[in-house]
Amino acid sequence: MKYESTRGSRLKKTGAQAIIQGIAEDKGLYVPETIPALPFNIEEMKGKSYKEIAFKVIGAFFDDFTSEEMGYCIDGAYDSKFTASDVVEIKEAGGAHFLELYHGKTAAFKDMALSILPYLMTTSMKKEGVTDKVCILTATSGDTGKAALEGFADVSGTEIVVFYPTGGVSQVQERQMITQQGANTHVFAIRGNFDDAQSGVKKIFNDDDFASELAAHGVKLSSANSINVGRLVPQVAYYVYSYIKLMERGVLKAGEPMNVVVPTGNFGNILAAFYAREMGVPINKFICASNDNKVLTDFINTGVYDIREGVRKFYCTNSPSMDILISSNLERLLYLLSGRDGQTVRGLMEQLDKEKVYEAPASVRDGLGDFYGGFSLEKETLDTIGKMWSENGYLMDTHTAVAYKVYQDYVKETGDTETPTVIASTASAYKFAESVASACGIGPCKDGFEYVTALASATGVEVPYGLKDLDKKPVLHKGVVDADKMADAVREALK
Ligand SMILES: *Cc1c(COP(=O)(O)O)cnc(C)c1O
Repeated sequence: MKYESTRGSRLKKTGAQAIIQGIAEDKGLYVPETIPALPFNIEEMKGKSYKEIAFKVIGAFFDDFTSEEMGYCIDGAYDSKFTASDVVEIKEAGGAHFLELYHGKTAAFKDMALSILPYLMTTSMKKEGVTDKVCILTATSGDTGKAALEGFADVSGTEIVVFYPTGGVSQVQERQMITQQGANTHVFAIRGNFDDAQSGVKKIFNDDDFASELAAHGVKLSSANSINVGRLVPQVAYYVYSYIKLMERGVLKAGEPMNVVVPTGNFGNILAAFYAREMGVPINKFICASNDNKVLTDFINTGVYDIREGVRKFYCTNSPSMDILISSNLERLLYLLSGRDGQTVRGLMEQLDKEKVYEAPASVRDGLGDFYGGFSLEKETLDTIGKMWSENGYLMDTHTAVAYKVYQDYVKETGDTETPTVIASTASAYKFAESVASACGIGPCKDGFEYVTALASATGVEVPYGLKDLDKKPVLHKGVVDADKMADAVREALK
């Protein structure tokens, strides 16, 4: 299996090379040249564990890894760091199946991919004979940063630098990052929003002079954002897993479709579901849920991606991990839906960069028919959390609540109450304790940490181990930088 760029350069890479590099030379994103079919008969996988399923699914994409190498990566990643009985849990509430992906170290779904990425990365470096140090640059809307820091902390041959928007993450999220231990970890707040952080990181990647400067010091850049295909592929596994578990539970029979609802920001998680369908998992609708920053809802409904100032404002919401206007992985969907037309994708992405707006061609608009786009405003999100808790005793975080609200809208609009539906539950409610507690009528409290305690005593839901005693940990990272000074911060970190 080789990897090619979404922007049309013909150069093909192995999985290991694509993982190390992060982003293609022509600024495109790496995608598998074909999406592999499921490497098993789905019926035969009943009763298999998360690890067994993930081994086969991820292995099908990265077939340049030997089975010993892949086994080493899977075993290292999905161990007792995950507190769920089988890495993830699927819980039924309010007429949907909640796929809880947040039982790892940092209490968000980012752990699913970022606990394996360091293993994939170091194995790839070994395979490719890379002796340079790899510096992982990461822009975060709150959850990727911490999960990447935990994944790469003290991994030899790597440095990790994380940029998060000041005031753009929850108090718990910020404290998780700035208390990170590990000699190779570096965290900076930037004056700007997530899009500024992500654009800044992309700019550094595309700066050839900076790359040469680092190369002279034996350093190579890579990414832990979902632009790295090593982040994306591990996420495909849990959609395959969900289907198999719903079959086991008699919710559906092999061949019957399910719906998937994903609270979406950078479009990585929902794209992984799309890849799962391309592999052969029967999926009826991809329900793409946004918050007040509803650029994707509008794109799905109109085929026009429009982030022009004056047309669209950036909102800081109570689901901050989705406060994104430039949704990177959409590029990979455009590539697939346009029939792998790299020139068209390049044109659209350049247009977005310059004019801040593009209209998808007809081929792409047709493909968008498999998607349903909807959004939940902040107040609706809180109402949804409160109602679910009081009626069903099920506690959702703000992002998951955005998804559930949009699912309810979907059912109302389409009448589709029949298709079993999996909702990607992306974070522990405790990461957004203040919003969730308020939604359940708990508080007021004096800060985010007191909300954690109050929420726990009112609901009896256990606080994830990674979030305990955060307020007592020493703050180790204090840097704040301007969005246009990020390269200097990287220099500083690498000294
Ligand atoms: C990152 C994140 C999202 C958005 O996922 P994408 O893959 O960027 O679309 C949603 N919810 C939470 C809690 C997240 O951390």
